[in-house]
Amino acid sequence: MRKVTFVKAIVKLYFITALGFSFDHFIHAAEKVGLHGIGAVSMPFAIDGLAVVGMVLRSKDFDNTTNKIGLWLQMICGTLSLAVNIYAGNTIGESIQGAVWVVLYVTLESVSGKIKSRKAVEDADAIAQAEAAIAAASAWLSVCTHPTTCTSEAQCQSKTSAAVKRSKTMARKARLVKTQNAALASLVSA
Ligand SMILES: [Zn+2]
Repeated sequence: MRKVTFVKAIVKLYFITALGFSFDHFIHAAEKVGLHGIGAVSMPFAIDGLAVVGMVLRSKDFDNTTNKIGLWLQMICGTLSLAVNIYAGNTIGESIQGAVWVVLYVTLESVSGKIKSRKAVEDADAIAQAEAAIAAASAWLSVCTHPTTCTSEAQCQSKTSAAVKRSKTMARKARLVKTQNAALASLVSA
């Protein structure tokens, strides 16, 4: 578990570093087109910031529609950020570096979310299996209609079969009485 936390922390660190580089590149790009001060600083917040919001909206905590909106936000803002970072470079090397950082920050966040230890996955499987076993073993409970709820499947079955036997006996007795009555009636009328 500790290893997983450690790796996740490193991935997060890369993510923040990449965002930092992108921030710097945005300022360069803004200066290139003559933006200064708050105008320049607001650009990374608008584009990289929205890309990060998109990433968060893609997490499991949100419903499918929100996940889709998040993916669109991430794709649009990620592409814009990529363009800005490439434009910010004064040399081909700087442009490539800019592109690499954007790709890193766009992909790393989801990588971090997908890192799971083998044990955690196996534990989750074991819990699911145990739950399924319990559900299967207690299936009889949901069909028990006895006035006092049974405490075991065997008890429930024996109660049910006893009740069936009782009703069969009663039916047989009723038929017997009917036949006797009919016989009596035919004797009387004769
Ligand atoms: Zn029962």
